[in-house]
Amino acid sequence: MTYYSLNHRSAPVDFRSAVLQGQAPDGGLYFPSDIPIWDQHFIDSLANLNKIEIGFRIMEPYVGESMRKEDLYAAIASTLSFDFPLKQISERIWGLELFHGPTLAFKDLGARFFSKCLELFVQAEDKKTIVLVATSGDTGGAVADAFYRMKGIEVVILYPAGRVSSIQEMQLTGYQGNIHALEIKGSFDECQQLVKQAFVDRELSESVRLTSSNSINIARWLSQQVYYGIARSQWMETVDPVIAVPSGNLGNICAGMMAHHSGLPIDHFIMSCNVNNVFVKYLSNLQYHPQPSLHTLSNAMDVGNPSNAVRIMELLKQKKDGMVSNAVVGYSVSDDQTSQTIKEVFNAYNYLLDPHSAVAYSSMNHYLNLHPRKKGIVLCTAHPVKFPESIEDLIDQSIPIPPAAASLFNRKKEFDALDADFAALKEKIFELV
Ligand SMILES: *Cc1c(COP(=O)(O)O)cnc(C)c1O
Repeated sequence: MTYYSLNHRSAPVDFRSAVLQGQAPDGGLYFPSDIPIWDQHFIDSLANLNKIEIGFRIMEPYVGESMRKEDLYAAIASTLSFDFPLKQISERIWGLELFHGPTLAFKDLGARFFSKCLELFVQAEDKKTIVLVATSGDTGGAVADAFYRMKGIEVVILYPAGRVSSIQEMQLTGYQGNIHALEIKGSFDECQQLVKQAFVDRELSESVRLTSSNSINIARWLSQQVYYGIARSQWMETVDPVIAVPSGNLGNICAGMMAHHSGLPIDHFIMSCNVNNVFVKYLSNLQYHPQPSLHTLSNAMDVGNPSNAVRIMELLKQKKDGMVSNAVVGYSVSDDQTSQTIKEVFNAYNYLLDPHSAVAYSSMNHYLNLHPRKKGIVLCTAHPVKFPESIEDLIDQSIPIPPAAASLFNRKKEFDALDADFAALKEKIFELV
């Protein structure tokens, strides 16, 4: 398996180089040269395999010769050290809870797999490795936790001032050591722009090994396919599930669509966005127009120019029937609908959704009303306790903190405040070398 740049001006590379580079030298995102087709026996036996076997089987062809089989197996096993339960919420809707990892959001899986890959790949290097990450909330915490105390690797996290929840902020700023939090006076899009600029900067690339940990990195992006295998392995209904994915940078849903392409039995995807819906519009009119992002309750999805948009376009190009609508429909959900959904689902079913999962639930509900025989899975991407500000008033009670996360709440906060200015970021990075 090789990976080519979607800008088509760099040479294809193997898994190892693509992970180390993050982004191709021509600025493009990497995409696999061929998408594996799973054998029928694997698909039929999903219900009998455990999550680690499922993860290993899905990732093996993508990793290829870049890792020894036993190293890959160990990386998958330590990545998947928590549960991903599928719970029935209402008559035709189930929730796949992806928030039982250390930072209570679904990005733990991708961040942990990426960190294990990087740890193996940089062992023999003498250049310092710097992981740069722009975060709209959850990525930064997951990456900080995954890399904390890893030798030879420094992590620099850029997050937009005043746009992350107080718990997310604790997760971003509470690690120290090899983790460096930068509060940027600007939007998430500006943070992302700064990271992109760093990757094309000659001076930086000569003195450090820079790599990105945003979902553009194939280790993070592709490992998310495992969720869909795990979802399907727990699905006991006779009809194939519709799956609604709360979407921002579109990494997670694009991974799901790759698994679908490989043969995973799924009825359909729903791309569930908040009012930042440029790709939902693309799905209906095939016009792609990035927009400045708007602030919403589901802040991890406040993205105006989703980085994985180009990957979905590439994947849709490869679909034999060429019919976008056969694979995915898009919905855009307002903050009012999000709040209403959290309230209704809590009152009717005693299940508490976080704002991101509520966006997906709301779209699923809408879709199932139009398709009375279908059933669906909503990906629950964050634990509601991460968003007390937007939830507690709606349900009129406080949310108990899960015991596993209690230590998050008594950490010391440390960060540097920075203007959205590339020269200032560069100076910070040089301080770490
Ligand atoms: C990052 C995030 C999303 C969006 O995922 P993408 O892969 O960027 O589309 C959704 N929900 C939560 C809680 C997130 O942290």
